[in-house]
Amino acid sequence: MKLLVFLLSALSTLAETIVVIDPGHGGTIEKNRSDGTQKGDGASWNNATAHGGLLEKNLCLEYAQEIKKNLADDPRAKKLGARAVLTRETDKHISSMGRAAVAVENSARIFLSLHFNASSNGSAEGTRGYIVSKDHPHWEYMHFLNPYADRDRAFSERVVKEVATALKPFGGDPKKASTRGDSKHDGGHLKDGIRTLGFARQDTHLFQAVIMLLEVEFIDNPKVAKWLLGEETRDTARQAVAKAVVKAICDHLETDQAPAAPRKAR
Ligand SMILES: [Zn+2]
Repeated sequence: MKLLVFLLSALSTLAETIVVIDPGHGGTIEKNRSDGTQKGDGASWNNATAHGGLLEKNLCLEYAQEIKKNLADDPRAKKLGARAVLTRETDKHISSMGRAAVAVENSARIFLSLHFNASSNGSAEGTRGYIVSKDHPHWEYMHFLNPYADRDRAFSERVVKEVATALKPFGGDPKKASTRGDSKHDGGHLKDGIRTLGFARQDTHLFQAVIMLLEVEFIDNPKVAKWLLGEETRDTARQAVAKAVVKAICDHLETDQAPAAPRKAR
């Protein structure tokens, strides 16, 4: 009987398709210990802040939880056996490598790092997706190629298009949405976000996963903050984004053929 229970649970685990959602940032700054000095680390505590004091790290968590809930309730996602695992469920700090490890441990099919953007002059807008470039730029100690860049890009474009379309009724402009390689990353989220993507993509265990970073919108732009985070629209905008992400995930899972595993060196 014990064996049967074990086999059944093993089978149900096998049938599951894990989607790892990584709510960017998290945690609190420790005195005299900046994120740059963290041993083996790289994540930053918070980045963008909206007018009114809303922090990116909290919004990331709220949105990730909404996506997880929507995925659990979605009939198509259920049929596909898709289940979301979050890299953090609370306001805690996890290193970039630690976030990528959650995807490795779960043999994730999708790794989506979730962020909100900010710009130098506070006037930028638009939903953006970032992927690890085919020829990943040489930064820090990592340099590698991403043989799955085209597949990552296709997934990112799908997600960005759905999210930007979902935000249009609130005030978003889908024409300002785009997907970019990390060689053209325009600063800001390198430490927490792009580095996490790099770790995830570098690990060959993740050959099957598509990997992207989603910047929902520029929350430091007062115009965007008003329609995205205003009291009246905040909940409905978050729900619309979650639905859009779930749709893109299901569309991807229905059509995607995960590439064969890279051969392990002996
Ligand atoms: Zn961020």
